[in-house]
Parts: sequence; structure tokens; C-alpha cells
Amino acid sequence: MIDMYKKPGKIASKVRKDAINYVKEDMKILDLVEFVENEIVDLGGGIAFPCNVSVNEITAHYTSPAGDENIIKSGDVVKIDLGAHVDGYIADTAVSVLVGDDIPEELREKHQNMILASQEGLESGISAIRAGVEIGKVGEVIGKAINDRGFNPISNLAGHSIDQWILHAGLSIPNIKENNPHKLEEGDVIAIEPFATDGIGRVTDMNEAYIFKFLRDRPMRLVHAERALKVIKEKYGNLNFSGRWLTSHLSKHHLNAAMRMLVSSRAVYPFHVLREKTNAVVAQTEHTVIVESDGCTIITE
Ligand code: MN
Ligand code: MN
Repeated sequence: MIDMYKKPGKIASKVRKDAINYVKEDMKILDLVEFVENEIVDLGGGIAFPCNVSVNEITAHYTSPAGDENIIKSGDVVKIDLGAHVDGYIADTAVSVLVGDDIPEELREKHQNMILASQEGLESGISAIRAGVEIGKVGEVIGKAINDRGFNPISNLAGHSIDQWILHAGLSIPNIKENNPHKLEEGDVIAIEPFATDGIGRVTDMNEAYIFKFLRDRPMRLVHAERALKVIKEKYGNLNFSGRWLTSHLSKHHLNAAMRMLVSSRAVYPFHVLREKTNAVVAQTEHTVIVESDGCTIITE
């Protein structure tokens, strides 16, 4: 089991570390996203899902659409969430970076502490993981570590189990105390991803969606939609994909119309961009681990 996850884990970890050094103020989000996705491929991995770059109150599920002109600014808290796979064995990892050098001291301290809170939530959660532990207990430990740092966990986002070719395999690992008596088992592959904020600690859907997943074949009236669905099914199968990846097959105009139709006919599922409900800044840290009898192995360290 650990052998299968060693290679994707190494790739994801290397790319995460390189992305931390690469991200700079005045950089396009698109440049960062493409840097991450290209490096995963260069290192011999597959892209398990589009690189998420979610800034400040944007909490998750943002990836650049084609031609994205959005810029990372000094003082931004940038969450970089990436996944590499080898033969469908997925390593999922995320880091938060406070970008820029010239940040007012008070803000710098607050946001660095927020990032630290998500890191400590992750470390505490991981230290609680072993076969037989209740997942509600793991959530309790994560939430307490974040509270102890003076922040709130995001209560309606969770970690998750991973199976071959399946990023979210059914089990949710909460970031708060929950009465969930389900016990982790030896060999479970789990992504732990605490989010810390000084807001209310809940996320809400935005209208936009840039990450999608194939659901089912459907007859399409629009020829572009039919063509897009065929490409999506063949190239990405069960894995999440970015609309941006389809621009070599369709013009931007046709792509947007096709995606709208695929979503409305439920051939494709849209992951809406998530933002913190009170527009507060959010930090995230994530590792993938394999559960063992007396602890766990972090594959993305
Ligand atoms: Mn992730
Ligand atoms: Mn994850």
C-alpha cells in the first residue's frame, strides 16, 4: 500500500515546496497554476485534479479559467492545493503562503498565526490518527488546536478518504468535534485538511465553477457539448478537470456554452468556488496519510 503511494507522494511534496518558492506578488494566478500542473507532469505524475489557488476569503475550488488575468497581490493569503497521481494512486496536499514583504505588522502577524493554526490543526490531527480511532475524535483534536491559536476551523469543509482513481472516496474527516463513531482502519488512505479563519468558520458556494467532474453520458443537442463530453470522458474519466484544459479542443466561446449545457443536463458536475461566509481570510494546510495500527505514515511530507 505505502509503496503505491510513495511516488505520487514524493511528486506532490516536491511540487508543493517548489510552489512556495515560486509564488510572488504581481504574479498571475494562471502562471502559478500552470507552474504546478506542468511540474507534476515533468516529474512523471498525472494531475489528479486542477491546481487550486484560492486567495484570502476564497477558500477552495478556485482554479484559473482560460486567460485568467487575476493577479496575486502583496498581503494575500494564497492557498495552493495540488494533487499528483501515479496509476490512479492520488497524493493530495496543500499549503498556505502569505505573499509579499511589505505588509503592515499587525496584518502580517495575524495571517502568519492563521497559517500556523491550520498547520497545528493538521499536526494535531495526524498525531491522533491510528487504526481504531473515531473520526469524530480526529475532528475534535483538529478543531481544538485551531481554537487554541485563537481562530475558528471551517466547520463545513472536511478531509476525506482516497481510493485508486477516487479523490473523495466516501469518508469525511471533520475539522471540528463531531459525534461520528466511525473508526479508521489500517490501510485507509486519508487526506487531512484543516482550514483556519478569523471569520464565522463556514463556507458558501459562489456562482462560478472552474473545476468539473464527468458524471454520465447524455445525448447533447449542441455539437460542441457533445464533442466536449466525449473528450472529458476519455481524457479525465473519474478525475476532476479544469475547463481551461479543454481550450485545445474548443474555442473559449464554444467552451463556455458547452460547459453550461453539460452542467444543466447533469452530464458534468460543477465544483462551485467556495468563499468564507463573512468574507474573512482563510488558511489551509493538507497532507495525505496512510493509517497504521499504531499511527500513520505521511506520504506528502
Ligand atoms: Mn487538496
Ligand atoms: Mn483534499
